[in-house]
Amino acid sequence: MRCEVLAVGTELLLGQIVDTNGAWLGEQLAQVGIDSYEHVIVGDNQPRIVEAMRSLLAKTDAIIVCGGLGPTQDDLTRECIAEVMNVGLERRDDIVEHIASMFSARGRDMSENNKRQADVPRGADVIWNDRGTAPGLICPVGHKVIYAVPGVPHEMMAMVAGAVLPDLLRRSGTKSTLVSRMLKTWGTSESGLAEMIADRVDAQTNPTIAFLARGIEGICVRITAKGTDDEEARVLVEHEEQALREILGDIVFAVDDETMESTVLRLIVERGWTLGTAESLTGGMIASRLAAVPGAGDSFVGSIVSYDAEVKRKVLGVTAERVISDECAVQMAQGARRVLGCDVAVAVTGVAGPDEMEGQPVGTVHIGLAVGEEQAEAVKIRLPGGREQIRQFTTISALDLVRRRLLGIAASTGVR
Ligand code: ATP
Ligand code: MG
Repeated sequence: MRCEVLAVGTELLLGQIVDTNGAWLGEQLAQVGIDSYEHVIVGDNQPRIVEAMRSLLAKTDAIIVCGGLGPTQDDLTRECIAEVMNVGLERRDDIVEHIASMFSARGRDMSENNKRQADVPRGADVIWNDRGTAPGLICPVGHKVIYAVPGVPHEMMAMVAGAVLPDLLRRSGTKSTLVSRMLKTWGTSESGLAEMIADRVDAQTNPTIAFLARGIEGICVRITAKGTDDEEARVLVEHEEQALREILGDIVFAVDDETMESTVLRLIVERGWTLGTAESLTGGMIASRLAAVPGAGDSFVGSIVSYDAEVKRKVLGVTAERVISDECAVQMAQGARRVLGCDVAVAVTGVAGPDEMEGQPVGTVHIGLAVGEEQAEAVKIRLPGGREQIRQFTTISALDLVRRRLLGIAASTGVR
């Protein structure tokens, strides 16, 4: 079974956006064992899109077209597929109703243009879209198939995972399903992680294990298992997860949709505590991550962005002579705890670059933590990369220190 990807959009050709959808689709197809030999990008032009579809279809069993399902005149995917199928478009009342209800839910009126999104090539099946207005399409062309999905990444991903891949697998006759799980880690480098689990990666093809370095999301290990049914695949994944966890231990901070910040807030809530931050080089990034977690208000109280040394001294009561120091980080955390009235406060101070400070090199970061009246500590870490990466890594490292402290495990101070 072979499936190619056709990304539609002039903005892709002009370099205004990057075809991340194509990359994601390629990864998904490889994972389920469907060959993909060509990814094509074409502008919003009907003859050229039709030509691209025809020439791909001559070689392949299936095409996933992404983009061009919107309501405007330059969204041509529906028309092009109808032309390739050699059928007309039918306006479906049930889809018009769905679109109208999406609009009224947002308190807006549906424009006449939006009804175009209810046009379906005769003979095609619809993939319902509960995240947006444009439905996806499954369009048989002889014994081959064209799938159309929206360009908006999260809508596209939901449809591909929920409808396109299962349909492709059904057509390919492989009676297999895939289950995957993502273990998120922090505390060792990608190469260090790869070394730790090299034996398990080499030992097998099912499940497969892949690494993804995701910046502020940590370094992830994805386990993907194939089975004849969900249950079989799930058992394989769980068995592998257990084996990996035995090796990785406490550097695993979250699974799948969980994040470092959701993990930290859960631990804080479990103890009935509250959390605040004092931030220098991150400028509120830690607070912003925490505030993005649904229900954060139950335990996250706020943040003091004490960027300038004077603010550290006046607002947080820092007396340390050097601001790039453990002493300053501890005083910032204690000050934040006092000013914000929270049980736990984490604080960061350090050198994001481009220039060194107080004789300390770029990437030097001190994280302070105050838990209750009595306990305060600081760790010094050295982070690689440029200014933005240092700020992101500081954010996840600070949250990781809170996690480790709450779980009673040692801080990780290694150079990453
Ligand atoms: P809409 O209803 O929003 O018009 P659409 O299905 O017509 O959706 P496009 O108009 O092609 O899709 O793209 C909508 C947005 O989705 C783009 O502005 C872009 O941000 C994103 N997008 C489109 N194609 C891609 C792609 N190949 N990779 C990453 N992002 C994409
Ligand atoms: Mg569009």
